[in-house]
Amino acid sequence: MNTRSIPFGRPDLNNQDRERVNEVLKGHILTHGPQGQEFENKFVDFVGGGHSVALSSCFAALHLGYRAVNIGPGDEVIVPSQTHVATVHALEMTGASPVFVDCELETGNLSPSSILQAITEKTKGICLVHFAGIPCDMAKIMPIADERGLFVIEDAATALGAKVDGVHVGLWGDAGCFSFYPVKHITTGEGGMLLTRHEGTADQVGKMRAFGIERTKRGYDVTSLGFNFRMSEFQATLGKGQLDRFTENLTGRAHNFDVLKRALLEVEGMKVLDVTREGLESSHYCLVALLPEELRSRRDHLRKKILERGIETSVYYPRPIPDLSYYQEKYDTPVGQYQNASVISDGAIAFPVGPHVGAEDLEYLSQNAQETLIQEQQIMEMK
Ligand SMILES: *Cc1c(COP(=O)(O)O)cnc(C)c1O
Repeated sequence: MNTRSIPFGRPDLNNQDRERVNEVLKGHILTHGPQGQEFENKFVDFVGGGHSVALSSCFAALHLGYRAVNIGPGDEVIVPSQTHVATVHALEMTGASPVFVDCELETGNLSPSSILQAITEKTKGICLVHFAGIPCDMAKIMPIADERGLFVIEDAATALGAKVDGVHVGLWGDAGCFSFYPVKHITTGEGGMLLTRHEGTADQVGKMRAFGIERTKRGYDVTSLGFNFRMSEFQATLGKGQLDRFTENLTGRAHNFDVLKRALLEVEGMKVLDVTREGLESSHYCLVALLPEELRSRRDHLRKKILERGIETSVYYPRPIPDLSYYQEKYDTPVGQYQNASVISDGAIAFPVGPHVGAEDLEYLSQNAQETLIQEQQIMEMK
């Protein structure tokens, strides 16, 4: 019998948020209004600098980020093989080609040395993903990019709150892209934000999000192509409310992560993906646990057993991007070539650590996850 039911993610919305959405709906400004601007300003205050553009999704932010660095057919961009398909789709749509790189098993991130090895004469830039909130070591990666004049896009969809040597992710590269999809750190239903150090990039992306329209002294004009990738006012007001209490959200996640990590590491051979040096601050999106080798082939079975105890888990991310049919057919890389990415796709379980996991849930989750895994090890030993 389940005594509890713990979802992988649950939006952190309260009555005040609902009230504010109602207020917006009572007015007549549903888009292009003050809520969007205030959300952008609050976002910049929270991350501690830069310029921000609220958008309809992280995918939109990634695509406009790639467009802002002017790439196209013939250009190569280094991308992780272990990520959400959005990271690479957004690039493909510019006509440039992805060059896939394997991740480190300890963090799920690209390492500086793996990036160095992948750089060719055609390389124009690098897209980095801060895997599950664990920041890439930007202090080591930026000099590699700067020396060669490569642009850097940071996919920070699951990294709101993550920092490297005190500087928030998204402020290291040319642009950082955040997601407000329901299971992410904060949600606007659907939504995203592009953060950038460069004012010019923010202006350009701001135009591209709304058909490329410019309002100059001479009036209305369009000097470039554009999309409609705007965020609505009632979405922006939801984002504002959650940002106001985001520091609590982050400390709650850090606490849940630490307790669960300790419990899981009691299982022999278990590894937990985490930061590898001081100065790297994770935003603890979820806890990615890499199973002991002998249990990896039983990952799906184990997730089912854990779910039978009322605990919902997830997989980040289910298949390395080059192994997906579209990329397989187009780039023809042998399946499983990116070994660490495959190990994480096939042999890891992502556990919830969000603010919806309360103190009693956390104890239940830690105990039951640990117990299920240890029991499975015992069953395997008897065979
Ligand atoms: C969720 C996610 C995205 C996509 O975000 P949307 O807001 O749904 O477009 C992109 N990249 C990564 C790494 C993600 O986890």
